[in-house]
Amino acid sequence: MKTFPMFLKMAGRRVVILGGGEEAARKARLMLKTEAEIVLCAPALEPELAALVARGRATHVTKPTPDLFAGAALAFVATGAPEEDARLAGVCREAGVVTNVVDAPELCDAFTPSIVDRDPLVVAIGTEGAAPVLARQVKTAVETMLEPRLGDLVALAGRLRDEVAARVAPAKRRAFWAWAFQGGPRRAHARGAEDEAARLLKSAIARGGAGETGGFVSLVGAGPGSRDLITLRGVQRLQEADVIFYDRLVDPDLLELARRDAERVYVGKAPGAHSWPQDRINGVITAAARAGKRVVRLKCGDPGVFARGAEEGAACEAAGIAWEIVPGVTAASAAAAELGGFLTERGLYDSLVLTTGVVRPGDPAPDWGGLARPGTTLALYMSVGAAGAIRDALIGAGAPEGSAVEIVSGAGTAEARIWRTSLGGLAETVAAERVENPAIMLVRLPKAAVVAARAAA
Ligand code: SAH
Repeated sequence: MKTFPMFLKMAGRRVVILGGGEEAARKARLMLKTEAEIVLCAPALEPELAALVARGRATHVTKPTPDLFAGAALAFVATGAPEEDARLAGVCREAGVVTNVVDAPELCDAFTPSIVDRDPLVVAIGTEGAAPVLARQVKTAVETMLEPRLGDLVALAGRLRDEVAARVAPAKRRAFWAWAFQGGPRRAHARGAEDEAARLLKSAIARGGAGETGGFVSLVGAGPGSRDLITLRGVQRLQEADVIFYDRLVDPDLLELARRDAERVYVGKAPGAHSWPQDRINGVITAAARAGKRVVRLKCGDPGVFARGAEEGAACEAAGIAWEIVPGVTAASAAAAELGGFLTERGLYDSLVLTTGVVRPGDPAPDWGGLARPGTTLALYMSVGAAGAIRDALIGAGAPEGSAVEIVSGAGTAEARIWRTSLGGLAETVAAERVENPAIMLVRLPKAAVVAARAAA
């Protein structure tokens, strides 16, 4: 290591920033996160810096004097003019203060790292200048791992530390903190339930050990099939999971976000084989949770839309296992984005119906008459194979043959394809274009009055 990372105590210590323009302002913003006493040294200050001085958060001197650096923790040279920076770097060196010079690594004693700030949890990333782009990538990865509010939980843990030391036996403390940051308290806190997190922690402390360490099931929406369309919360659940049960249509890259030692179990349909029966899926997820594992049931799109989530949730309830839903981007949303269009449009489509033309044998068909109302976008899932029957049913229910239909396959993935046709031509388009699954159809039934008005205009 040519540089060594340390966390400097900053409260009350002086930091000198030499410069009065944007470069200096950038360093000032960084230092404002600390409790350092900021001194700005420049002939003149740009407005943001002047405002800091006016507020009393920084002081201003026009020239470096020998006593300026006495006892200073750091100096930043940031005038924006390389020659002036080099001259001032010399002044700092003479004063013996640890110095950072913007864009001049050869003049620096110290470098500023990429920072992930969940104060009091702070992650600093540096590459000794060799690969700043990599440092940013690492920063992004760490940012996604640590929910924005995590710092408050860390601070709460800090406040409870003495209490834990007093009431939780030393042999149980590691397990207590592991639970605090991986189990119920962290989950409650991450979803904004700070009081609940505090309550869980305090009651566990009162009992002298970690709270429930029993398993937990997250029904996580993976999004429409590309790795960057899952939510940050979904990624966190993947990273915490002991076992992941995943579906067909889930982007395999997503599984790479899980811990290397997490078990991955495919419960979807293999080509030419039957899918796992739902009962068997319910059985394995509840059994894993009962064994104390953190279970992720990763489903394509949103777990609440045609995903049999209700059955899995009910199975968890019946087994007395704590569970949650982590929402995802559903296929209809991904399809609209692919089309550069919108699911609702004021005045044209005020209603959005998510439906399917395919129901269990014996179940009644959808009430097409009730669905095919002017002012509606009908998003039809799992329906490509039934395009002809759906066309007949909708036209039979009064939908105009000329209604626009958009078909999107692989929405949200690199293989996305779109087709635009009419309700009357739907089945022909599906057949002629060999539309393949996964595909969704959006049938547009605009408000009649609007259509008429537009035609007349
Ligand atoms: N829970 C999923 C839906 C599962 S049902 C969601 O919220 O999106 C499976 C159907 O979803 C497919 O038949 C297809 O109609 C639709 N679907 C899923 N992923 C899709 C994608 N990437 N593009 C288009 N349609 C998709």
